[in-house]
Amino acid sequence: MNGCLYIVATPIGHLSDLSQRAIETLREVDAILAEDTRQSAVLLRAHGIATRCESLHEHNETALAARLVERLQAGARLALISDAGTPLISDPGYRLVAAARAAGVTVSPIPGACALVAALSASGLPTDRFCFEGFLPAKTGERRAALQALKSEPRTMVFYESPHRLKETLEDAAAIFGDQREAALARELTKRFETILTLPLAALAQRVAQDADQQRGECVLIVSGAKESTSDALALGQRLYAELSKELPPSRAAKVAAQIAGVAKRELYGAS
Ligand code: SAM
Repeated sequence: MNGCLYIVATPIGHLSDLSQRAIETLREVDAILAEDTRQSAVLLRAHGIATRCESLHEHNETALAARLVERLQAGARLALISDAGTPLISDPGYRLVAAARAAGVTVSPIPGACALVAALSASGLPTDRFCFEGFLPAKTGERRAALQALKSEPRTMVFYESPHRLKETLEDAAAIFGDQREAALARELTKRFETILTLPLAALAQRVAQDADQQRGECVLIVSGAKESTSDALALGQRLYAELSKELPPSRAAKVAAQIAGVAKRELYGAS
């Protein structure tokens, strides 16, 4: 008899955002695999869930996956939860799910809260096409390079960000994507101090720099994609700059390429 691995979404703040099916599943399984068993205990107690919890986090997942799959194959029903939101979304669980599916075990999602979807749905930015970028690198140079690589991305971009790095990330994003690119900052969703600001990047960076409250708590940053025409013009500018800089000093090459392509000169410097 095969068991089942349930991937159960838990709230991202408000304890009531746990679905009835999630509650029933968490009550009925043989064990709950939790990222931080002490943190999950608060949620489980609030919903009268007394199921035994076992620890599964990024540091022990690889070591435990094979044994967990054996238990599932022997008929165990296990539920995976993370500290908040949907497991595997910037959270542990990928290795276990991949191993379970490879072994033919049923993996079934119990959907619910996810910060990126909650933020996007209330941001007022285009939702028809988007990409999730997770956390940007912590080091300044790597973060700027990651943003630079996304400069011409036409889809709405969603990032998770630490409140300690938010101010710098917004300043970098404004410098790289342009001051006027629309963005949204969704903070403390479903919690007491929930705020969602939708502003051009430079104005958003300024607002966050001036308001220490905006640098606290959990946040999702959303940046609208490059306009197709902008990304076309930028791509042309970059090609011209690459060719011209073989013959001209970089500053002169950037100036000429920018004039022909109709983009700002400073957009070409860091781009090549
Ligand atoms: N698995 C989670 C999910 O489904 O969204 C995400 C886990 S990730 C380790 C934590 C990050 O998600 C935070 O740093 C923040 O960027 C975002 N996040 C989680 N809860 C949030 C909330 N209530 N409001 C805004 N962002 C939140």
